[in-house]
Amino acid sequence: RAKAQACGHYHFFIPAYRTALVERRAMEKELRRALRCQEFVLYYQPQIHLTQGGLDGLEALVRWQHPRRGLVPPAEFLPLAEESGLIVTIGRQVLRQACDQMRAWRDAGLHPPRVAINLATAQFKQGDLVEEIRQGLTQAGLAPRDLEVEITEGTILDRDSAEIQRILAGIRELGVEIALDDFGTGYASLTHLKRFPVNRLKIDRSFVQSLGQDADDEAIVKMVIQLGHSLGLAIVAEGIETAEQAGYLSQQGCDVGQGYLFGRPMPAEEVTLRLRSPAFNGDERDQGVDECW
Ligand code: C2E
Ligand code: MG
Ligand code: MG
Ligand code: MG
Repeated sequence: RAKAQACGHYHFFIPAYRTALVERRAMEKELRRALRCQEFVLYYQPQIHLTQGGLDGLEALVRWQHPRRGLVPPAEFLPLAEESGLIVTIGRQVLRQACDQMRAWRDAGLHPPRVAINLATAQFKQGDLVEEIRQGLTQAGLAPRDLEVEITEGTILDRDSAEIQRILAGIRELGVEIALDDFGTGYASLTHLKRFPVNRLKIDRSFVQSLGQDADDEAIVKMVIQLGHSLGLAIVAEGIETAEQAGYLSQQGCDVGQGYLFGRPMPAEEVTLRLRSPAFNGDERDQGVDECW
């Protein structure tokens, strides 16, 4: 019996630990293979002017087009990509792909709005991010205003924040604008907003989704819009799913909205179709953005 117990213990304990490790290694290997095979693709989500209507930008969101597993969302591979440092290489591919896509739309005679890419903290700590962005733009023949970068509160609260501040200043000097993502979920303070060269605040979708349900969150949203505006920042609301949420936000003076109400993240080809549509290009604009996006 003692033997069986020891055995059971062994089976329960060590293999579980080893399995996790083995799985992690296998997944890391898979990520490296995916990088070589260029399996990371960008989906684009529209950002809409809440007051005058029309398309203000597109946020590029990475997905893993896995040969067997299909389309894998970022939540399932970014944590390990960050832990392993592979996020830096993925980030480079994202930058390159976003710039190339913008070039392709232009070459097709289309008029895409600015594209925003998300930056991970690790990208500030390896290589020369400012130079990479400058090169990405130059190689695709783009202007700095064609690109925007999104950073999170985690990045500006990082312990290397002085160095990150310096790099962000370099990005701003290029003429690329910076958005602070998921605002309100962390501990970024007024001091941070003053110290970091941020142009836009993106209100996290957790606040947007409790509009009409949670008076505190409503007050926070109202305050962020006022505060942001008084600091000269544009305000973007994420995760807008209902017309009521959009209505409340535009009433409060929020500048831009993003969310399933206006469009889910979609493949580049789908954006191409919409950029081609008469509703987007013609003076049928006043039909409303819903027609087009
Ligand atoms: P994020 O940058 O805050 O992006 C917004 C996320 O909210 C996206 O999830 C988007 O699909 C989702 N979303 C947009 N509208 C709605 C809505 O109305 N309702 C709901 N429920 N969700 C909405 P996604 O694409 O799964 O990306 C998750 C996160 O992964 C991103 O959050 C971002 O932090 C990270 N991420 C995505 N692409 C990249 C990338 O290229 N590089 C880095 N470093 N991070 C990325
Ligand atoms: Mg983002
Ligand atoms: Mg966000
Ligand atoms: Mg988020």
